[in-house]
Amino acid sequence: MLRLADFDIVFQEVPNETTLALNLSECPNHCPGCHSLHLWEATGDPLTIPVLDDLLERYPYVTCVAIMGGDNDPASVLQMAQTIRQRHRKVAWYSGANALPADWTITAAEEAIVPNSDESPLACFDFIKVGPYVEALGGLKCRTTNQRFYRVENGRLIDCTEQFWH
Ligand code: SF4
Repeated sequence: MLRLADFDIVFQEVPNETTLALNLSECPNHCPGCHSLHLWEATGDPLTIPVLDDLLERYPYVTCVAIMGGDNDPASVLQMAQTIRQRHRKVAWYSGANALPADWTITAAEEAIVPNSDESPLACFDFIKVGPYVEALGGLKCRTTNQRFYRVENGRLIDCTEQFWH
């Protein structure tokens, strides 16, 4: 289950997009130095489709919806991403995990025999950020960061982290 702790309209998390950021609780990553300790607990109501639709009705001008968290339930993240797509908004996922779920990505060997990757779960997203917060390395705006921000094209990940360094 995904729980919505709070939300915000943001402009920097996804370059060139006006984004409705859905901040989810029950984060399992527990990064030392976490800037959002309140997201470790199971706070907030379940993030359901009616809740999403209500927010999109209140903020119809958003061009993108960012799912911030949800590492406790990637299957529900995927379902929510599909729903956001149906609402004609771009979809971003900010994951604090080190890597995406193994069965979401296409190996080089599979890529050779599956030229059309539209059926990959990644095809449900436009942008994906991965990586826990490591205080010594900094967040996306630091050139030393361990985190990566990808644009998703045809189910494949294009590293765009540099966009945050300008
Ligand atoms: S992923 Fe984000 S919210 Fe979760 S523990 Fe790490 S910094 Fe905190």
